[in-house]
Amino acid sequence: MTASHLSGHLPADHALSPAWQFKRFPAIGRMLADYPARDLWDTDFARLPAPLARQRLRAREFAERYLVPAAAELDLAPHAAAGTCHPLARSILAEAGRQGWLSYFLPRPLGSMAWRTLPYAPIWQSTLIVEEFSRACGGLMLLLSAHHLGVMPLVLGGDLGTILRFVAPVYRACERGDPHLVAFAITEPGAGSDAEDGHGASLYHPGVIATPTKGGYLLNGRKCYISGGDLAKTATVFAALQGEGMDSWTCFYVDCTAPGFRVARTELKMGMRASGAADLEFTDMFVPTDRIIGGLRNGWALNRATLNASRIPVASMAVGFARAATETAVEFARRYLLGGKALIHYQDVQLHLATMVAETRAMRSLVWQEARHAWRPRQLDASLCKFHATDRAQHVCEMAMDLLADHGVQHEQRVEKIFRDVRLTRIFEGTNQINRLSMMEDWQGQLLAPDRPVGV
Ligand SMILES: Cc1cc2nc3c(=O)[nH]c(=O)nc-3n(C[C@H](O)[C@H](O)[C@H](O)COP(=O)(O)OP(=O)(O)OC[C@H]3O[C@@H](n4cnc5c(N)ncnc54)[C@H](O)[C@@H]3O)c2cc1C
Repeated sequence: MTASHLSGHLPADHALSPAWQFKRFPAIGRMLADYPARDLWDTDFARLPAPLARQRLRAREFAERYLVPAAAELDLAPHAAAGTCHPLARSILAEAGRQGWLSYFLPRPLGSMAWRTLPYAPIWQSTLIVEEFSRACGGLMLLLSAHHLGVMPLVLGGDLGTILRFVAPVYRACERGDPHLVAFAITEPGAGSDAEDGHGASLYHPGVIATPTKGGYLLNGRKCYISGGDLAKTATVFAALQGEGMDSWTCFYVDCTAPGFRVARTELKMGMRASGAADLEFTDMFVPTDRIIGGLRNGWALNRATLNASRIPVASMAVGFARAATETAVEFARRYLLGGKALIHYQDVQLHLATMVAETRAMRSLVWQEARHAWRPRQLDASLCKFHATDRAQHVCEMAMDLLADHGVQHEQRVEKIFRDVRLTRIFEGTNQINRLSMMEDWQGQLLAPDRPVGV
């Protein structure tokens, strides 16, 4: 594109252009008013504290160097048999481990979190990283992110002993370039929402059962849709005690190489195809008592706390997708000619792009606002953030599809992949309907109290 200005706007050197006018402002006016030359996308990042800005940049460099070039190949690769890993994905996992992207939830020397980022909530750090990864490739982002979900119950439910015994060796293996992935397993063939919603859980008959035996428990049953479960070396698995209901849910830290464990199958799913969604089968699988995390019958609380911690990063996945879709649409509008001029010169196209950018930045503002303070994330805020950001991101991706029209359905234009990937964020970590109900669950005390004002 060589034009000096967009159709319907003045060139920067026109006497009525704000850029030109602002240069003539007196000194005080120039201090109090700005006419920005800064890139639109950099505005938010320029406001980050320096250590986080550096971390985001590192994540972006990793994503552009390793994830972007592999995205299309892994998305189009034939559905792999359970337990096999595409060599490209394997090498990316190893490099991600070496660079600390699989161990950043704990500070050095236990994990890879730099000391200078310690003052900032780990969830905020995670949202910045996840946005960059999902902008590059949804599937690889999920492959890397699901591992943190698997580790989360060990951090939240354990004590220093648990962290030293279980988390530190996982992190050290990852940093050596020998990735030890951990999966998080709550969903069962009969319980998706029922594993995330108290009312549903109260009516559900658990499908994965732990029966006491000498020195531990025998697990039986099946979990499904477990991200990274096909490659995981260990998993945090939630099971009910024999003869009891969901209120007996207990978190077991299982070794996926132990007898009685089997990856039964993986799903051929519409998006995020670089990450496997596995069915895990347990047949009299022995788990020693000292691998119970957070105490017997404390699994429900641990599950809910884990989801509260992970729903804000899921919202930032949505920001990454919306951003990737918007960037692709902008590029398309700059180069695609319609009636002899680039699409971007049509003012209704400009309105379309302005809306996409505003939606994306509004989502990011919401996510950062919650993430910044998420030292002890609450369900109310995390769920709101998750359902709103992922719904809006889907809308932004639709807008990109509208703009690209028939070009949008071509795989090489990237938008159709983003469109398939973003849809899954509205399902996992609780469907968006369930997240709305989770928000209401926490709000109900205030809503029903007769003498308390209800403010939002
Ligand atoms: C790509 C992907 C990755 C995943 N990764 C993992 C993972 O790593 N670990 C894991 O454990 N799980 C994982 N899941 C499972 C995921 O968390 C569940 O799919 C999700 O919770 C929804 O459950 P469900 O699909 O069984 O839907 P269901 O619970 O069967 O719900 C069906 C429909 O009913 C609605 N509904 C349910 N209850 C209510 C209600 N009370 N009121 C109103 N509407 C209701 C739901 O919103 C939905 O529309 C993953 C799923 C996907 C798609």
